[in-house]
Amino acid sequence: MIYDLKKRISIVIPAYNEEKNISFLIEQLGETLSNTNYEYEVIFVDDGSRDNTLNEIKFNAAMHSNVYYVELSKNFGKDHALKAGIGLAKGDAVITMDADMQHPPEMILTMLRFWEDDYDIVYTYRKNANPHAKKYQKATSKMFYKGINMLSDIQLENGTADFRLMDAKVVKQLKAIDEYEIFLRGIIKWTGFKQIGLPYTPSKRHTGEVSYSFFNLVKLAVSSIMAFSARPLYVVTGIGLFVSALAILYIPYVLISYFAGYAVSGWASIMATIAFFGGLQLLVLGIIGVYVGKIFMQSKHRPNYIIRSTNFVAVNNDLIRI
Ligand code: UDP
Ligand code: MG
Repeated sequence: MIYDLKKRISIVIPAYNEEKNISFLIEQLGETLSNTNYEYEVIFVDDGSRDNTLNEIKFNAAMHSNVYYVELSKNFGKDHALKAGIGLAKGDAVITMDADMQHPPEMILTMLRFWEDDYDIVYTYRKNANPHAKKYQKATSKMFYKGINMLSDIQLENGTADFRLMDAKVVKQLKAIDEYEIFLRGIIKWTGFKQIGLPYTPSKRHTGEVSYSFFNLVKLAVSSIMAFSARPLYVVTGIGLFVSALAILYIPYVLISYFAGYAVSGWASIMATIAFFGGLQLLVLGIIGVYVGKIFMQSKHRPNYIIRSTNFVAVNNDLIRI
C-alpha cells in the first residue's frame, strides 16, 4: 500500500469585494507552491461581498480541485471570516493571508521552513509603516498597537499582520475558543506555543480599495483592546482614586475659606470642576458600558459567522473536504 506522505497546507483567505484579485492570487500561490513537497488547498471565505467575488471564487473552485469556497450569509468582518475558514481547514498547517496581494506569497516558503524547524506559529509584522497606507490608517494603526501593548498583557509588534502560519495543534485550540468578538492577532499571541515573528514589506494592493474607514478603524481598535483586556477598567479606577485624593485635599481649603468668610463667588472654579468631573464620569461609564455590552453579546452565544453555501460536503452534520 502506498501512503501519501505529503504534508497538507490549508491557506485561508477572507475576501470582501476582491473580484479582480482572486484568479491572480491563485496563480501566484500556484507558482510559489507547486514545486514544493506539500499538498495545499486554498479556502476562500466570501465575507458578504457586493461585487462578483463569489462567482470568481466559485469559477476557480470548479477549475481547480484544491480551491474551496465558503460563502457567509452577510459581511461578518475579517476576523470572523478568517475563523470560518480556519474552522474548516484540515491541513497539518494553516496559513492565513489577505486576498489583495499585500501579503507576498513567496514568504510562505520561509514560513514553511520555520514550521519544519519546529515553530508552531510563524507570524509576520510590517517592517516599517505601510508605504501604501493612507495617513489616517497609519495614525490609527500606531495608536492601536501602542494602546494594546499598554493596556493588555500581550505584546504585539507594530503592524502585526493577519499573514501567518499555524500548526494544526494551534488551530485545534483556536477552534475551541468561543468569543463573540474575536481578535485573532491577539488570541494567537495569547495561545503561547513556539512563535516567531518575521518582518515583511507589504506590497501595494493588487486592485480595489481598502475596506476600512477611519471610523471603522477606531471602533475596531477600541473594541479589540477591550475584548482583550480588563486593564482599561483598572486604569480608570486609578484615575478615579487620584482625582478623589485631590478632592480630599481640596475640601479643607474650601471649608477654611468658608469659615474665614472669604468664600467669594467661585463661578469659574465650579464650572471647571463640574465640567471635569462630568466628563470623567461619562468616560468611566462609557468604558464600563463597553464591557457590559461585550458581556451582553457574549451571553447570547451567537455564532461568529453563518455559512450560506460552500463546496465542502456535509457528513454527519460536519462539513468535510472531498
Ligand atoms: N476583508 C474581509 N471582510 C471585511 C473587510 C476586509 O474579509 O469586512 C478582507 C479583505 O478582502 C482582504 C483583507 O480582509 O482580503 C484585508 O482587508 P483590506 O485590504 O481592506 O485592509 P488592510 O488590512 O489592507 O488595511
Ligand atoms: Mg489590504
